[in-house]
Amino acid sequence: MSKVLIFGHKNPDTDTICSAIVYNNLKRLQGMDTEAVRLGEINDETKYALEYFGVDVPRLIENVSEGQKVILVDHNEKQQSADGIEKAVVKEVIDHHRIANFETAAPLYYRAEPLGCTATILKKIYNEQEVTINKQMAGLMLSAIISDSLLFKSPTCTVTDKHIAEELAQIANVNIDEYGLNMLKAGASTTKKTAQELVSIDAKEFVLNDKKLVIAQINTVDADEVINRQEEIENVINQEITSKDLDAFVFVITNILTSNSEVLVLGEQKDKVAASFNKTLVNNIMTLNGVVSRKKQVVPQITEEFNK
Ligand code: MN
Ligand code: MN
Repeated sequence: MSKVLIFGHKNPDTDTICSAIVYNNLKRLQGMDTEAVRLGEINDETKYALEYFGVDVPRLIENVSEGQKVILVDHNEKQQSADGIEKAVVKEVIDHHRIANFETAAPLYYRAEPLGCTATILKKIYNEQEVTINKQMAGLMLSAIISDSLLFKSPTCTVTDKHIAEELAQIANVNIDEYGLNMLKAGASTTKKTAQELVSIDAKEFVLNDKKLVIAQINTVDADEVINRQEEIENVINQEITSKDLDAFVFVITNILTSNSEVLVLGEQKDKVAASFNKTLVNNIMTLNGVVSRKKQVVPQITEEFNK
């Protein structure tokens, strides 16, 4: 029997990487031949978490071959998944996103819960299956929840996420606020990143009513640090628009301390994107106060406007 690969989405974030590792740990404890892998470079925040808890970075894969058995965590949309996913055999999905562009030929285990983080669902699965959680796995699940919820400030964060994070912090033996802020800050430094890195670290592709958009997000503690490089960043985004034939590129610059976002939008459909929020772009930028969640405060609004 061939090994089952477990992975999250392209441009991996902390939840995607940690959930793959944690679910792999559970599957292996249960005697399954699985391996956690990743679809791209890990970001500085994830690196901080893995180093803190002494866990190795999963192997990088470029694509999956025909008939490869896979388990998807933290995503389901095919354009966010591994290249070749159409020919793979999806055995399971554990996710907390909208379901789109997803179908299989065979039955599967599909678990979707509208919680703030995939790792929160995994913690529930460990408990349901009565498997003990060690310090490392607890630390990784906690890191994923802190990342996806921006330390519980995101509207995607539920009471369940918070309670589970508190339980995990006990097992991992860390102070949530102290560890959490250090981890978020490790990933929020923008000065050393190239414009290409800034717009691609957390970029996701969406197909909305035949229009192709990329919605990218970067966390920062100083949005001006990014805005000051607007010209350089626009050049990179315009290249992306041409090479990927995009109708719009939406770059969300989120200040994790104030919970506000500056949004740079380019492409033919840029004004329609702004209209999704009843905004007009000024020099290609709009300010969205209180917006930190792409999943809940950006994607649904743009989807609605593009479906009109
Ligand atoms: Mn994710
Ligand atoms: Mn997630």
